[in-house]
Amino acid sequence: ISPLRLEPQPSLPLPADLYGAKRANSQGLDLAVASMREPLLAALASTPVPAVAEASTAEVDSASAQAVAAFAGWNHTPVAERAATLRRAADALQQQLPRFCALLLKEAHKTWGDAVSEVREAVDFLRFYANDAERVMAPTTLPGPTGESNVLRLEGRGAWVCISPWNFPLAIFMGQVAAALATGNTVLAKPAEQTPAVALEAVKLLHAAGVPANVLQLLHGPGETVGAALVAQPGIAGVVFTGSTQVAKIIQRALAAKDGAIVPLIAETGGINAMLVDSTALPEQVADAVVQSAFRSAGQRCSALRLLCLHEGIADHVIEMIQGAAKELVAGSPAALATDLGPVIDAEAFEGIGRHLTRLHAEAKPLLPAAAPATTLPNLIPPQMFEVKAIADVKAEIFGPVLQVVRWGGDPMDVIRQINALGYGLTLGIQTRIDSRAQALAAAARVGNVYVNRNMIGAVVGVQPFGGEGLSGTGPKAGGPNYLHRFCAEQTLTINTTAAGG
Ligand code: NAD
Repeated sequence: ISPLRLEPQPSLPLPADLYGAKRANSQGLDLAVASMREPLLAALASTPVPAVAEASTAEVDSASAQAVAAFAGWNHTPVAERAATLRRAADALQQQLPRFCALLLKEAHKTWGDAVSEVREAVDFLRFYANDAERVMAPTTLPGPTGESNVLRLEGRGAWVCISPWNFPLAIFMGQVAAALATGNTVLAKPAEQTPAVALEAVKLLHAAGVPANVLQLLHGPGETVGAALVAQPGIAGVVFTGSTQVAKIIQRALAAKDGAIVPLIAETGGINAMLVDSTALPEQVADAVVQSAFRSAGQRCSALRLLCLHEGIADHVIEMIQGAAKELVAGSPAALATDLGPVIDAEAFEGIGRHLTRLHAEAKPLLPAAAPATTLPNLIPPQMFEVKAIADVKAEIFGPVLQVVRWGGDPMDVIRQINALGYGLTLGIQTRIDSRAQALAAAARVGNVYVNRNMIGAVVGVQPFGGEGLSGTGPKAGGPNYLHRFCAEQTLTINTTAAGG
């Protein structure tokens, strides 16, 4: 292991009143979090954020060779045994929820509510893929002619590279790794460089549950070096990636340029997620859904609302309601239980969003007060909203609490066509009281997840399989019934049962 080069994030200053002066148990504080406040606050005080070491080129090569060598043994371990190992990890993670929440809060600046739901999502991924691997990998006997047996069976493919982002550093990391492990693959995991400690603790937990060390290895470091070196390894069987569209394309090109087998890529990427609001929509419902979808988690969800398309008949009224609701949101230290949105992940993200805000102030009409300059709490951006002239003006995913609003009149199908033309296809919100219109618009949208008359937050594992189309990803949908197949090699075994020995 090379000398320490990646340092943990500096810890955030804690406010004097951790419960928040404003509210203790209202909008931002889910009851479950309130009931756990003592263990959560105790964990905050007692959980250090460990430093990690960046992997050298030699370590990447050696880890990859070990992952390739370990594949046969893990692949031949009965699926029930692999699933039991993942269920043990799920139980352990559930028991350690406060500790992992504290880590998420310190390293990724998650609010308590977001941290609790992320740990639960990671537990769900472990259990869902454990159960689903047993379902999917059971051999299927297929009907065929007399004198012949046909069986379809699934196995792992080999060593997978799992590359994850910082915005769900536990849930997405765990989901990728659990899917690969459950199906008999070995794993080389490369977490985001902003959140290495969460990944380190997650891997320790999986090892303690019984995943062998050479079956799951963790490689820290920048994507451009360590990530790229992993993708370039000759023996790897697949890459599962969640992150930006731009990096997904870099990885796709690198895989295409490799000699040998065609290596599959599962990519889940960004989006310019829109909500279409027609003239029949309920303004209160719209305002609440918009605030939840655009500003919660500081807008750092891939599913977050970026582009609000308001029917001109109700636009002014809805904008006014959003302005009122946005003012109620508490932006501050994530350690305070009443905080609704904490700082964005780091100074680089803050500056990048700041460049977009400068441009929007010049080109568009601001609808909320401008972000105050950073004070004692760095990288904090309060909710921001701008009115733009046309859907086509919204060109990039701004990964922060920044909403762009456009007015429309005429045919809502035309709005969907313009949204489709942006090329992304992750989430879409539709607000209407006309059921048949919601169905028709959803059917015309080239998008992975549609949310009708509700907020756009929610990709509950096994309930709302999640993933996008076009620039937003390759599919299959995470947490859905088709996800694990992509990690598997399929073999059809045909035997002549009339032959000698058949
Ligand atoms: P990113 O693309 O910058 O980084 C993601 C991962 O890729 C990191 O681990 C990074 O180190 C690695 N990486 C970077 N360059 C690489 C390279 N050349 N080769 C190999 N690996 C490389 O994304 P991010 O900033 O961490 O995450 C935010 C993005 O992720 C947003 O666009 C968001 O929409 C998207 N996202 C999508 C989903 C989804 O399910 N669709 C979920 C979460 C986040």
